[in-house]
Amino acid sequence: MLSQRRLFGTNGIRGLVNKELTPELAIAIGSAIGTYLHCGDLLVGYDARTSSPMLAKAVVSGLNATGCSVLFAGMAPTPALQYAVKKHRLDGGVIITASHNPPEYNGIKVLWNDGIEIAREQEIEVENIFFDKKFRYVEWDKIGSVKDLTGIIEEYVEAIKGHVDVAKIASKHYHVVIDAANSVAALAVPKLLRELGCRVTTINANIDGTFPARPPEPRPENLGDLASTVKAMGADLGVAFDGDADRSIFVDEKGEIHWGDKTFALVEKHFLLQNPGEKIVSPISSSTLVKDIADAYCGEIVWTKVGSVIVSHTMKKLGAKLGGEENGGIFYGPHQPVRDGAMATALILGIMAETGKKLSSLLAGLPKYFIEKGTVECPEQLKEKVLERLIEQTRGLNINTIDGVKIWFEDKSSILVRPSGTEPLYRLYAEAKTRRKALRLVQDFILKLKRIINSLKV
Ligand code: MG
Repeated sequence: MLSQRRLFGTNGIRGLVNKELTPELAIAIGSAIGTYLHCGDLLVGYDARTSSPMLAKAVVSGLNATGCSVLFAGMAPTPALQYAVKKHRLDGGVIITASHNPPEYNGIKVLWNDGIEIAREQEIEVENIFFDKKFRYVEWDKIGSVKDLTGIIEEYVEAIKGHVDVAKIASKHYHVVIDAANSVAALAVPKLLRELGCRVTTINANIDGTFPARPPEPRPENLGDLASTVKAMGADLGVAFDGDADRSIFVDEKGEIHWGDKTFALVEKHFLLQNPGEKIVSPISSSTLVKDIADAYCGEIVWTKVGSVIVSHTMKKLGAKLGGEENGGIFYGPHQPVRDGAMATALILGIMAETGKKLSSLLAGLPKYFIEKGTVECPEQLKEKVLERLIEQTRGLNINTIDGVKIWFEDKSSILVRPSGTEPLYRLYAEAKTRRKALRLVQDFILKLKRIINSLKV
């Protein structure tokens, strides 16, 4: 962070607390955001991190100094705060969260008046104000006020219930185990599920910003406790959230953990059964599974660059009602076009209730792919040239170059080759109908990339 006049990364501002992201910096960032948003009423809330209240107060200072009034919502899931901005017709918002990053990190997200994070062009304007120190401080009698805003979690839960068949879900008396990552999912999801008539068991549901139980990223290797609890208790479903509860990863009744592509494809299938012809928005890094489902159920897939904010903005621009990412982000437009872990959980329960099937059998009915990944070191200054050369070599193939290059082959295998945004690396993601083929694709393209890089070095 703070390199080359850049504050924002792919998901807001992130940094190590009190090293990169200090209270002084947070005041200046708050002042830049307030100057950019030009007064109005802004929502401020935060996740469960130890540093969140401290940074939130600093940001509020900056906002007030530039004449913005703040409605202070306190600790809440990111999607609940995003919903509150829309529901209360506010002019925007600021969320203090580092999502899935380790506990020593924190971050700042800026929301527009629709609850969606601001677009890159708007971030650049905030960055320019910040680096040029063009803060629009107001006179003493124009300083913004701070009021508490209560009840946003109840409103959020109520809104989600409006998008599913509550009576049908409740009639099934599902037993659901929630792994809240010791963070804000615990404030909303158990309440939602109880109101959906579920029996709820929680693990890691005590709020603790040190994340003592597991890292806040819901990767399969962090979810062993959830999987074994679901199995041991004979529960119907398990669900794990990331640190700010916008992503959810599901565990079936057998204790098997499923990565986000699969649960998104399931939601997509049932959405398209009821809404044929709709557009489905997904980053190019998603599985071909997502396209298979769109093709089979009369949907139209729209690939985007990688990044949840890009998916949200694309959905808004196209009026699309569904989006999804492989990491467990599901965007349900009729509720709000942003990732929402609690909404995703309600949708999955709705599908189980509607079909009367267990999650394992619902997912077993989807096309299967094997995924293999790889990396190749590549100096920063060569990245662009390497991509150009690689694209030249793929002439005649079925490719998409929206973010790196993705190549689809006739046997349904594919590979995505993307320069890392943060490290001197190229990342490769291959997918195929057999593990051997996926592995071979990765190996072939590692060789191809190395050859190109070496030829450019001489
Ligand atoms: Mg998150």
